[in-house]
Amino acid sequence: MTAALAIEPLAAAIDSAVAQIGPQLIAWRRDLHAHPELGNREFRTAGIVAAHLRAIGCDEVRTEVAHTGVVAVLKGKRPGSVVALRADMDGLPVAERTDVPFASKVQTIWNGEAVGVMHACGHDAHVSILMAVASVLAGMRDQLAGSVKFIFQPAEELPPEGEDGGARMMIAEGALENPAPGAIFGLHVTSQLPTGVIGYRSGPTMASADSFRIVVNGRQTHGAMPWRGVDPIVVAAQVVLGLQTIVSRQVDIASEPAVVTIGRIKGGVRNNIIPDSVEMHGTIRTFDEGMRDDVHVRVTDTAEHIAKASRAGCDVCITKNYPVTVNDAELTAQMLPTLERVAGKAQVRLVPKVTGSEDFAFYQHVVPGLFFFVGITPPTKEWEDVAPNHSPLFYIDEAGLPLGVRALAQVAVDWLESQAPRG
Ligand SMILES: [Zn+2]
Ligand SMILES: [Zn+2]
Repeated sequence: MTAALAIEPLAAAIDSAVAQIGPQLIAWRRDLHAHPELGNREFRTAGIVAAHLRAIGCDEVRTEVAHTGVVAVLKGKRPGSVVALRADMDGLPVAERTDVPFASKVQTIWNGEAVGVMHACGHDAHVSILMAVASVLAGMRDQLAGSVKFIFQPAEELPPEGEDGGARMMIAEGALENPAPGAIFGLHVTSQLPTGVIGYRSGPTMASADSFRIVVNGRQTHGAMPWRGVDPIVVAAQVVLGLQTIVSRQVDIASEPAVVTIGRIKGGVRNNIIPDSVEMHGTIRTFDEGMRDDVHVRVTDTAEHIAKASRAGCDVCITKNYPVTVNDAELTAQMLPTLERVAGKAQVRLVPKVTGSEDFAFYQHVVPGLFFFVGITPPTKEWEDVAPNHSPLFYIDEAGLPLGVRALAQVAVDWLESQAPRG
């Protein structure tokens, strides 16, 4: 049997199964949307996922992986390899402002603060898409060449302060072992693309994301007598401007872009008191691990030396969060025809790099992976009216979700076919 012969009837079977599960897909998504849960707190969501995976006859269903994660294996009847599919489950501390009837009214405490909770990044869509994919593939396990591993992961948007979580912890707790997959696929719904369109990119696709904190230590004095102390506010202002020259003057932005942003400054209590210290928080984005390390050194050097020139002290603390999401070039090239077949060739777009980040990157350090984008913005909508992911107005055109199911199911099946033993 050749791969082409095997794939075509499977493709037709997938498409008709997806059409059948369509209403269930939307019902799941709306239910999850109305009941979002924050990172490491996805108890209800994980319960629904695990119950579903058991109900459709997955061979193994592991729960409480990395707190609330669920990992299941579906064994096909034909011999073959193992492919992994991943969905993230967490919502965001955002108070929803859309007017959909299933809008979230959930409130909770996050890092000590009362917050609204919303699926403002579309992880509700990811969970329901992967649940539907599991149903579709379970219905055709006789034809499956190998096994499919379903990974439902908590805390993609970072766990609460002081807790571990997310993809890194899933891997540490064995999500990619027993059995170990030969490839992993994931998707993200995006407001940047219209419904019906799939976006992809080979190589570096989403940025590394690291946070940093800089404390400038001066010496408190009267606002009318700055020479009696050391003014950390003026030093902090110089540091903010100095950091701008890292991207504009120091790194080779012709090879890869980078971003350094200060998003928060805190210092002082009154107009006429020069404070003792100023605290700043920022984020660093890169698309190359070497450049990432280089920018870290330059942030530290810039802040420390500017402070020293003013006789202030300076503490720089950089926390590495997510690495660069790098789509395996060979795997991307191999699966592109599948995506084109599923969406239609004209509907598959090579997209620019995304300065947002994804902890899917951690899986790609262990196994070749492809992470792609599925459009969910109604094509009739004016671009200025489109709310981005993480906005309280983030809106999903549900007509775009079945394409996500078809794409994920097809890449899994096609990849398994490509690995199947030939006799
Ligand atoms: Zn997000
Ligand atoms: Zn997300």
